[in-house]
Amino acid sequence: MDIGILVIGNELTSGMTQDTNSSFIARELHAQGWRVSAVMIVGDDRDAIKRGLDYLLEISDALVVAGGLGPTEDDITTAAVAGAFELDLYTDEAVLQQLKGRFSSLGIPWTENNAKQAMFPEGADIIDNPIGSACGFLQDRDGRPVAVIPGVPAEARKMFSDGVISIFRDKIAYREHVAKRTIKIFGRTESRIDQTLSHEDLEILGVSIGFYPRFPETHLVVTSRGEYRERVEENLRVICERIEGKFHRYIFGYDDDTMEGVVAALLTDRGLTLSVAESCTGGLITDRITDVPGSSVFLERGVVTYSNTSKVELLGVPASIIAEHGAVSEETAVLMAEGVKGVAGTDIGLATTGIAGPGGGTEEKPVGTVFIALSAGEDTICRRFLFRWDRRRIKEMSSQIALNMLRRFLAGEEID
Ligand code: ATP
Ligand code: MG
Repeated sequence: MDIGILVIGNELTSGMTQDTNSSFIARELHAQGWRVSAVMIVGDDRDAIKRGLDYLLEISDALVVAGGLGPTEDDITTAAVAGAFELDLYTDEAVLQQLKGRFSSLGIPWTENNAKQAMFPEGADIIDNPIGSACGFLQDRDGRPVAVIPGVPAEARKMFSDGVISIFRDKIAYREHVAKRTIKIFGRTESRIDQTLSHEDLEILGVSIGFYPRFPETHLVVTSRGEYRERVEENLRVICERIEGKFHRYIFGYDDDTMEGVVAALLTDRGLTLSVAESCTGGLITDRITDVPGSSVFLERGVVTYSNTSKVELLGVPASIIAEHGAVSEETAVLMAEGVKGVAGTDIGLATTGIAGPGGGTEEKPVGTVFIALSAGEDTICRRFLFRWDRRRIKEMSSQIALNMLRRFLAGEEID
């Protein structure tokens, strides 16, 4: 069952507005077990709309068309669809009265151009718009349903979810079952994962794997499809287990999990407290941790100790150590983690210090050098990294590694 999506609007083809309707519609179609044959964007242009419809109908069993149902001159979708299917337009009296009623109840003067929104191609079934003025319509094209809805995202979503899906369900007999799991990986590149998985007989099982890099993570979306629900779920489980067998160390979560959420759950579970001293990450670690509801249970404080003075004053790092080894050094990072842990009286102290650039690098410590230290009980570990990116990415990667170090420590895994 393949469904084509056509979104229409000059604001979309000019790049002035980003098309969000098609991704919403595509996700919903997938969730229903239907495939998307293609997504196409065309301008408010009769010829382009006709060609788009022709092409998509060639490769699809049904179409969703969104945008250009408004009252203004440039909204021509209804007329273009009628033209493409060689149908005349008619005025639906009930819709016209409804529109006029809506205008008067809102105190908006009626203008004749609005009557356009009561016009539909012959034979169309009207799809109600409970939250806007433009109704949609359903047109049958040689047994293939074509649903046309407005482009305003809130209206498109509502009408698609409440109207179009049930219409398609009635019209389209066969539906696959779909089961999905997102596996969240950190520390392995996309190509490396792909190489390792390429030998799997995914196709036979009806399972596909999509790669979604979300810097600095990689998300693997495993999708299983088929006729029988139990088998679909079983195949998904089998493939996920295989992936887990290979990448166990790099998987930090599933579906809606976040790195900070996983860390927070581990800290809460173990009843341990945390304090953070951040230099190059500028508070990002603390920011992420405090995104998690309930973080006050384990987070005692997060301090941004950016200057040397603040490292001395707030964390008790001896000025002589900074003078001898530098603010960006293993010695300083270790003393920052131990210092914040001591001052805050927590079980764990986490610290970062680095050179985010573009200036400030030396031969020994080039731009992108970052030290991350974790202190717990008597032990403190520190790791040195070298990153190549801009400041923002260095901060994001450093905060991610710091949280991942903490995650591995809490899970009793080896820290490499
Ligand atoms: P209405 O009758 O409510 O005007 P319409 O079908 O004419 O509906 P459009 O004129 O095409 O809708 O678009 C209305 C608004 O929705 C515009 O602000 C437009 O930028 C936005 N919009 C249209 N299509 C999309 C899309 N695919 N993704 C995101 N926004 C969109
Ligand atoms: Mg438009």
